[in-house]
Amino acid sequence: MTSVGRGVFAARDFLAGEHVLTFHGARVEGEEGRELSDTVQIGADSYVDPIPPVKFVNHHCEPNTGLRNAVELHALRAIPEGEEIRFDYSTCMGESFWTMECRCGSPECRGVIRDFALLPESLKLKYSRLGIVQKFLLEPVLLATGE
Ligand SMILES: [Zn+2]
Repeated sequence: MTSVGRGVFAARDFLAGEHVLTFHGARVEGEEGRELSDTVQIGADSYVDPIPPVKFVNHHCEPNTGLRNAVELHALRAIPEGEEIRFDYSTCMGESFWTMECRCGSPECRGVIRDFALLPESLKLKYSRLGIVQKFLLEPVLLATGE
């Protein structure tokens, strides 16, 4: 993902909760997925490489949309026509090394965007309650037990 250059803008007004767009694209696994930019991570080792223009949706630390059903963005509040569509990339990132500099301009800007696991606990909880975190990031870690 990158946060410069092109963006995606609302072509009409959206109501809070409304489906805004879907990240259609090829599913890419493993290393190949990690090396691509502008992907949406949908599993521990799975990515979707979105088809433009939705490939160019930017990150924001106070997003107006959130990810639901793995590849859909839904409005978190009313979005007027012309506003840029943005979501928090951390809600789909779980690579243990991923970082991106952010200059979104929000007072809440985290400066450096990292994996979901590294978000402040309060923000993890907020996003979890909104239902906009990829399921694979929320699954409890399975621990092996021995005798
Ligand atoms: Zn930011």
